[in-house]
Amino acid sequence: MAEQAWSPSSWKSKSIAQDVAYPDPKHLSRVLSKLETLPPLVTPSEIERLRYQLGLVQRNEAFLLHAGDCAESFDACTHENIAAKIGLILSFSLILIWGARLPVVRIGRIAGQYAKPRSSKTEKIGDREVLSFRGDNVNGLDPNDRTPDPERLLSAYFHSTAALNHVRSLLTSGFASLHHPRDWSLNHVRSPSLRKEFEHIVEGLSDALDFSRTIGVESKPSFEQGGDRSTVGEVDFYTSHEGLMLEYEQALTREFPLPSSLQPKATASPAPNNEPHKPKAFYNTSAHFLWIGDRTRQLTGAHVEYFRGIRNPIGIKVGPSMATDELVRLLDIVNPLKEAGRVTLITRYGAGKIDDHLASHIAAVQKSTHPVIWICDPMHGNTHTSSSGLKTRNFGTIISELTSCLKIHAACNSRLGGVSLEFTGELNEEGFSVTECVGGSMELSEEELGLRYQSFCDPRLNFEQSLDLAFLISNYFKK
Ligand code: PEP
Ligand code: MN
Repeated sequence: MAEQAWSPSSWKSKSIAQDVAYPDPKHLSRVLSKLETLPPLVTPSEIERLRYQLGLVQRNEAFLLHAGDCAESFDACTHENIAAKIGLILSFSLILIWGARLPVVRIGRIAGQYAKPRSSKTEKIGDREVLSFRGDNVNGLDPNDRTPDPERLLSAYFHSTAALNHVRSLLTSGFASLHHPRDWSLNHVRSPSLRKEFEHIVEGLSDALDFSRTIGVESKPSFEQGGDRSTVGEVDFYTSHEGLMLEYEQALTREFPLPSSLQPKATASPAPNNEPHKPKAFYNTSAHFLWIGDRTRQLTGAHVEYFRGIRNPIGIKVGPSMATDELVRLLDIVNPLKEAGRVTLITRYGAGKIDDHLASHIAAVQKSTHPVIWICDPMHGNTHTSSSGLKTRNFGTIISELTSCLKIHAACNSRLGGVSLEFTGELNEEGFSVTECVGGSMELSEEELGLRYQSFCDPRLNFEQSLDLAFLISNYFKK
């Protein structure tokens, strides 16, 4: 069958799940025209570097950590929150690097993770039926502010820009240097054993870095494409969000020549105008990595159509309703050339369902010879409502899905390449972590959930619970 032509807007001819109906389409068009003129947030060479590093994850030479908030809010775009999130991602990855002796590719759910899919278009608040909250880039959390407003897409662009700018400054100002991990501050971690374990790693790491410096082996080009940025102790960081609002994604999709390292070598027969032919590609420049959610991955739908044409590495959420042949057909569509580093499958079945699905999904993908990275999202299949009515997740259930996932991969001659988590290092004014998930070494009980429940979307692991999880994974992979 001949492949249909793709363009950044070809998704418009397909049916779209989770669509947002704007009351004034002309207003939306004006906003989109403006977005089309605004500069890219990320560059093709950064996107290509991530693709390359994800290729390493696929070959078991690195581990992928994908983590952050379920949904960011415009109000949470502050120095404190961003630094706390980066600090937690770095601390988590340090524990993994130390245990598994593998580089960690870090992708934050940050600088653009505003839109949310919803199971229902409306919700009941008090005795009113209102439109569901769809994330800060669509409408407001306040029940009186639920009409979708296109201006919010512009706000999303500028908040993403501010967040990314701050991430970049933190990364280049020494905050993220593995040489000074104490800057990420564990002052608020109350568990002495957790602190001790982390301090132990930090000391070991500082010694190791000093030793490498002394003997002059600081550069480590194998993790870097072309070896251009090759100092051990400095870290890469990438951004991601669910590619849900296709109008926005289209407006930030730009065509660029492939970076020079990927251009074919000059040939004897240049193009007729004597200019060497430079292949181009469409990059989504709003984030390095985008994923398709479990509710928008229909084979003939708009989201899959959009995703198949962008050059960015992509994620696909795989839940219990995914049929095995559907998964393979999806891979055929989004990665027809079977390129390494292009597709990450983010499995999220639920602790009670993973045994029924993962092994057959792995077998089908192995048979298809599609190269994929498998990562475990032990969060989204394990959400329930507590007796007090708060949406929560149980640390034990999260561990149970992750442990099953590791076991099943091992039994299927496959390997878990990483994890996708919802966590936050956010602290309140008195320096206390959020209380959204129950359990962990701090043994948070259901009764304590109300103390500092700050998420307006899914419940996140707090700092201590995240470190508990990092040690668990790190110990599993310990060499
Ligand atoms: C999410 O990652 O926040 C999400 C909504 O996930 P899923 O599509 O897997 O339900
Ligand atoms: Mn979520």
